[in-house]
Amino acid sequence: MEIVLVKLGEIVLKGLNRRQFEDRLIKNIKNTLKYVGECEIKNAQSTISVIPQNSFVDLDEVCERISRVFGIVSYSRAGVCPEKTMESVLKTAPEYLADELRAAKTFKVEAKRSDKKFPLKSPEICRETGAAVLRAFPHLRVDVHNPDVTVHVEIRDFAAYIHGKPLRGAGGIPVGTGGNAAVLISGGIDSPVAAYMMAKRGVRLTAIHFASPPYTSERAEQKVVTLLKKVAKYSGDITMYTVPFTRIQEEIRRRCPEELFTIIMRRMMMKIAEQVARSRRCSALITGESLGQVASQTIDAIACTDAAAGMPVFRPLIGMDKQEIIDISYKIDTYETSIEPYEDCCTVFTPKHPRTKPVLEFVERAEKEAELDSMIDEAVANLKITYINNKED
Ligand code: ATP
Ligand code: MG
Repeated sequence: MEIVLVKLGEIVLKGLNRRQFEDRLIKNIKNTLKYVGECEIKNAQSTISVIPQNSFVDLDEVCERISRVFGIVSYSRAGVCPEKTMESVLKTAPEYLADELRAAKTFKVEAKRSDKKFPLKSPEICRETGAAVLRAFPHLRVDVHNPDVTVHVEIRDFAAYIHGKPLRGAGGIPVGTGGNAAVLISGGIDSPVAAYMMAKRGVRLTAIHFASPPYTSERAEQKVVTLLKKVAKYSGDITMYTVPFTRIQEEIRRRCPEELFTIIMRRMMMKIAEQVARSRRCSALITGESLGQVASQTIDAIACTDAAAGMPVFRPLIGMDKQEIIDISYKIDTYETSIEPYEDCCTVFTPKHPRTKPVLEFVERAEKEAELDSMIDEAVANLKITYINNKED
């Protein structure tokens, strides 16, 4: 039988909050594994054991899902010794790691004995297991400093386990321990990456997308759903709110100075997003802005945008280069979708010469004269809701 042993991350540092973090992490693990099959989850001695309850559970998929859960530093697929005895360990170790040991030249054994009642101490476990491995694979040599394979023996309360090199987990802290925030999501490269980064810091995500049909298409909105589905593999479930933005954009075009179109549009986005966020118990907004990337992302423009938002705006990409953002988008598999060419509402009615240093006072006056705020309620009343989960489809 095989199980997965999960080691907790930063959690360990969090003192009194630890219990709450662990509980949340276990809930998140259960949540993602419910799509794979029945698994028992046990938590003891800063290790979470994931134990498949029947042979239908695909352990590859379990591991893949575990690798995307924030709050985990490392995890190992481990063989369970049929009995918690030294004989059983000596038989299981060379068998379970046979492929790796056969291909290796050197190895060592590391033992962890958290069941203090086990008759042998760690150094003895190492010595005896090492001897058994050498009997099974006489071509091997012991190298304690730089071995090709490390045979891990863990004697825990429930059973004894054998595993090879632990795999690196997603890091971060468990989603749900860092509060709720709403990400303003476009179909571009940046905002899905921003969403992923904040989820990694424990934030539970809600998504807000502005659509301006017929200037933006149904396909453009579908693209955003696809992107969020990929983000949800890390963040867990996301509720997406699509805001009808056409009338507001048309009104901005009709009644505001052209060079202020973009900044006013962005401020309207913030005002609407704030209302939606508040009513969904989110206490911050998230955007994919990066300093200097476009006209609306200068310090002055961002100051104007921020002034419209009545809550903190997180911009996790603010100091990153485009290539660094792209690297993450490859890693989380959003890149190929992001570069599909569909119109975003930000790219309709773009001014030829947008103000890069807008002055808040003028912007506010233009907004007032266009009576834009009176249109916010209508937009908020006509939200479309889409539920996104991380079930495989
Ligand atoms: P992205 O790659 O995320 O689209 P971008 O570099 O293209 O970003 P802008 O188009 O100026 O930059 O948008 C800046 C940010 O504003 C985006 O990262 C996103 O958070 C938000 N945003 C832009 N368009 C929309 C939209 N249609 N709906 C919701 N949020 C949006
Ligand atoms: Mg964009």
